[in-house]
Amino acid sequence: MQSLMMDVPLQIKTLLWRAERLYGHKEIIARTGDAFDAFTFTELGRRARKLSNVLAGLGVTFGDRVGTLAWNTAEHLVAYYAVPCMGAVLHTVNTRLSDDQIAYTIAHAGDTVLLVSSDQLPLLARLTGRLADVRTVVVLDGEAPADVELGVPVLAYTDLMAEASDEYDYPDLDENTAASMCYSSGTTGDPKGVVYSHRSTVLHALGLCTTGTIGVSEKERYLLVTPLSHVNSWGMPFACVLQGATIILPGDHPVGADYLKVIEDAAPTVLVGAVTVGMLIRRALEEHPGDYDVSSLHTMWLGGQAPPVVEMKWWKQAHGIHITQAWGMTEASPVLTFSGLTSTNQDLDEDARFEIFSTQGQPLPLVEIKLVREDESEAPWDGKTPGEVLVRAPWVISEYYNDPRSAGSFSDGWFRTGDIATMTQDGYLTIVDRAKDLIKSGGEWISSVELENALIAHPKVIEASVVGAPDPKWIERPVAFVVLSDTVSPDELKLFLKKRFPSFWVPDRFEVITELPKTSVGKFDKKRLRNEYV
Ligand code: ADP
Repeated sequence: MQSLMMDVPLQIKTLLWRAERLYGHKEIIARTGDAFDAFTFTELGRRARKLSNVLAGLGVTFGDRVGTLAWNTAEHLVAYYAVPCMGAVLHTVNTRLSDDQIAYTIAHAGDTVLLVSSDQLPLLARLTGRLADVRTVVVLDGEAPADVELGVPVLAYTDLMAEASDEYDYPDLDENTAASMCYSSGTTGDPKGVVYSHRSTVLHALGLCTTGTIGVSEKERYLLVTPLSHVNSWGMPFACVLQGATIILPGDHPVGADYLKVIEDAAPTVLVGAVTVGMLIRRALEEHPGDYDVSSLHTMWLGGQAPPVVEMKWWKQAHGIHITQAWGMTEASPVLTFSGLTSTNQDLDEDARFEIFSTQGQPLPLVEIKLVREDESEAPWDGKTPGEVLVRAPWVISEYYNDPRSAGSFSDGWFRTGDIATMTQDGYLTIVDRAKDLIKSGGEWISSVELENALIAHPKVIEASVVGAPDPKWIERPVAFVVLSDTVSPDELKLFLKKRFPSFWVPDRFEVITELPKTSVGKFDKKRLRNEYV
């Protein structure tokens, strides 16, 4: 028997509808150099419809891809609504990829129009002749420069917007229509394309709003440091608009002190960004003691990798700020789990609470997880048996975009994440390692993540990354790369680790370097460490 309920498609325009009707007065505050562009959600809707008209005027129609090469700016956020609501597809290009990878993603996605920050024009000039289907480039800030030759027209956003109508009747779309796309960071081979739908975007946004998870709320002010070009800034531009929460954007080229200034001036209550951003801000604070007021913040949601417990404790003790983490990936929109307290562990003492916060947490509503061992049998949820994490949810991909490499990533309707984890009986997931980063030494597994977390707890270690180096006897041995605040001998670090781990876990080699290389999305780059040092 079929139900008699309305079959209303889940669409991004409904998020905007709610923000405009209920929260028209609430604000988006975007840093522009030393000032801010503050505008309301009513204005967001108006600007989105203008931009849709501009794009329609440039020939963009249903299903066309519109690429962005831009910072976390007001104009970039407007495109988040203008492009999908008209039925086109927003491709947020990761500008931190190599030139070749950027050319690959623009061509592979089939972008027809590019919306770009002016500082990306030299990059596009280097790619002249390789921009495939691109017909028009629109410069989001300032004038269209007369001296740049890209082989296609280069137009100024402000000129186009000034003449555009703010009326646009957004069509009703099938909820499975593509809304946006993003490429994985391509640490192995070419980046792979992930295409999000209106349905997946809306359900993921709702997932972020559920209590007991990120719990995006109208009462909060969110500083979105996660790039708008990385997994839709973790879905926050959608969840915040849905809830009418204030959005604060750090603008172009932000450095450590800029974040502090934005925090002081725009008073966010929650900061959302990579673990490495949290570390960068901490260092900026330590370099300018007492110069900046960060008291508006009560929470920082740090992700992309596990936030070290010492960092969590430092923020709590020094500033009363709670560090929360979620686990996910580009292929999963990205959030799959969230680390919070339930009624059974609410009354734990502080150390036990930090232990919970240091796990990757429990699955969000509608997310199913299972762990499988090497022989494909399911691993028990006993808190100690590791397995590869397989996931299923309405916001996880079913295949990569036009990519033969899809085959190995799925089994029986589940997505293989490539992460190795354990799961407690009550569903708290702990990522032990990425499958490719686990170190196999003499037939035993060593978790690089656990060694890194332990090392960073040493008072003289600022950053640590551990990778496996080939070894004639043991197949692989761990090598630790450390950034130090003060001199410390390898023997002292070995002794420090020996107190916590079996001796075969302790790295034989410690390499002191001035800075750990980072990937295009700000994580420690183990591939470069392996290639350059091991
Ligand atoms: P890419 O897909 O380009 O690697 P993602 O940002 O999608 O970039 O990376 C996803 C990976 O990052 C996950 O598979 C996992 O290994 C790691 N990761 C993300 N969040 C966490 C977290 N909270 N704790 C540990 N690892 C994490």
